[in-house]
Amino acid sequence: MSLQGDYDSQNIFAKIIRGEAPCYKVYEDDDVLAFLDLFPQSYGHTLVIPKKAAARNLLEIDADSLCQMTLAVQKVTRALVEELQPAGVQVAQFNGAPAGQTVFHIHMHIIPRHEGESLGIHASQKADPVELERLQARLVRRLNSLTA
Ligand code: 5GP
Repeated sequence: MSLQGDYDSQNIFAKIIRGEAPCYKVYEDDDVLAFLDLFPQSYGHTLVIPKKAAARNLLEIDADSLCQMTLAVQKVTRALVEELQPAGVQVAQFNGAPAGQTVFHIHMHIIPRHEGESLGIHASQKADPVELERLQARLVRRLNSLTA
C-alpha cells in the first residue's frame, strides 16, 4: 500500500466513520470527524478525517473535503491549545508508506508539543483508556464552548 492503489473500505478509519469500530470522538460535523489517537505521540494527539471522501491521501481528496478537513483542524487545534496550553503544535499528514502513512484513509495529525520533547512520528504505546476518556471529556467541553 503506498501512493498508488485502490481505496480499501475496510480500513480502520472507514470502520470508525461507519460506526463499526469505536473511537474517542472529540468533534464531528457533516463532513469531518476528529478523535483521539490510540497510540499518541503526546497527550492530546488528535486525528481529523473527512467522512465523505474515499481518499487515501492528499493526491486523491476532493477540494471540498480538503477545505472542510482543514477548517476542522484549525478548530480542534484552537481547542487543544486553549485546553492543554502546549508550547507548540505539530500538524502533520503523511502520504504513502515510505512517508510514514500506516492507515490509508487521509487524515491529519494534531500533536501538542512541549519544550525538550523528541519529535517521533509513531508511538508504540497504547494510551490508557481512562486517560483517553478524561481527555475526550475535556476537549468536547472546550470545543462546545468555542462553537457555542
Ligand atoms: P499515519 O501513520 O497513517 O499517518 O497515522 C495513523 C495513526 O492512526 C497513528 O498515529 C496510529 O497511532 C493511529 N491509529 C491506528 N489505529 C488506530 C485506531 O484503531 N484508532 C485510533 N483512534 N487511532 C489509530
